Amino acid sequence: MTTVAFIGLGNMGGPMAKNLLKNGFQVRAFDLVQAALDALAGEGAYAAKSAHDAAEGADVVLSMLPAGKHVRDLYIGDNGLMSMLPEGTLVIDSSTIDAGSARAVSEVLQSKGIRFVDAPVSGGVGGAVAGTLTFIVGGSDDNFAAAKPVLEAMGKNIFHAGDTGAGQVAKICNNMLLSILMVGTSEALQMGIQNGLDPKVLSQIMLQSSGRNWTLEVYNPCPDVMENVPSSNDYNGGFMVDLMKKDLGLAQETAMQSKSATPMGSLANSLYTMHSNQGNGKKDFSSIFQMLQELKG
Ligand code: NAD
Repeated sequence: MTTVAFIGLGNMGGPMAKNLLKNGFQVRAFDLVQAALDALAGEGAYAAKSAHDAAEGADVVLSMLPAGKHVRDLYIGDNGLMSMLPEGTLVIDSSTIDAGSARAVSEVLQSKGIRFVDAPVSGGVGGAVAGTLTFIVGGSDDNFAAAKPVLEAMGKNIFHAGDTGAGQVAKICNNMLLSILMVGTSEALQMGIQNGLDPKVLSQIMLQSSGRNWTLEVYNPCPDVMENVPSSNDYNGGFMVDLMKKDLGLAQETAMQSKSATPMGSLANSLYTMHSNQGNGKKDFSSIFQMLQELKG
């Protein structure tokens, strides 16, 4: 039986670790928050006293942490896991972090014979609970093959994006595009409404025309056009503005490093930053629709 040390049992990590348990993996869990640890122990995980304790005897170490600095500290910081993991251990980092941190951690770990893949996810908390996440993996063919059975216990689509760091780059390319589609769809709907159109009718027209996109298909930002989406629930649930802002910041960092022109991504980053600064950070990211409404002259 494969033993997984799972570090970071937050909104995403908690349900992901639970799915590993459900699928027959042994889980040695650690989080700084005792309540998160207790909840997973109740599902059958070993509640570790530290990250080192969790990693003791584990075949795989999986982390789901907030940002690059947490991941660097965990593995290659002072007292990092690099000093205790045996050769051959597989490290999977599923946090959304900058590709530079993923590559830096990988380089140090691989120099010690420890295998590494970056495997950020798409699918949100709903996907984590349902076990239907999309994993976007960066790493060698061998390491991808080793990680796949673990990831399949938590997700539905497992993509190999390329070498180390490619998972992170692919994920933020997708989220940058998503934010642009959300802003564009919102402003088109607002302009239609402000010219007397019914947003339901306009949505149907655009869905069958060349403006068709994912937000119109399953995530309409205008309240009451669709059922069971955050816009029809006061923008609660879904994917928070602050998480989109984080991903857009990572996208801009990547663009700067590769000297890529991302004018639309840069504008989306500014809009989501303004929206967050106005107190909307915890709302779903489709609430950018409201901001465009408020900006009307
Ligand atoms: P979260 O803040 O809910 O969880 C992070 C957890 O890590 C917390 O429980 C925290 O206590 C723990 N933690 C922090 N430092 C630690 C340490 N040194 N040792 C042990 N535990 C530590 O965040 P989340 O929503 O679960 O997101 C995790 C990652 O997944 C982030 O990188 C985020 O960008 C990404 N992500 C989130 C979503 C989403 O919808 N929430 C979707 C896709 C990707």
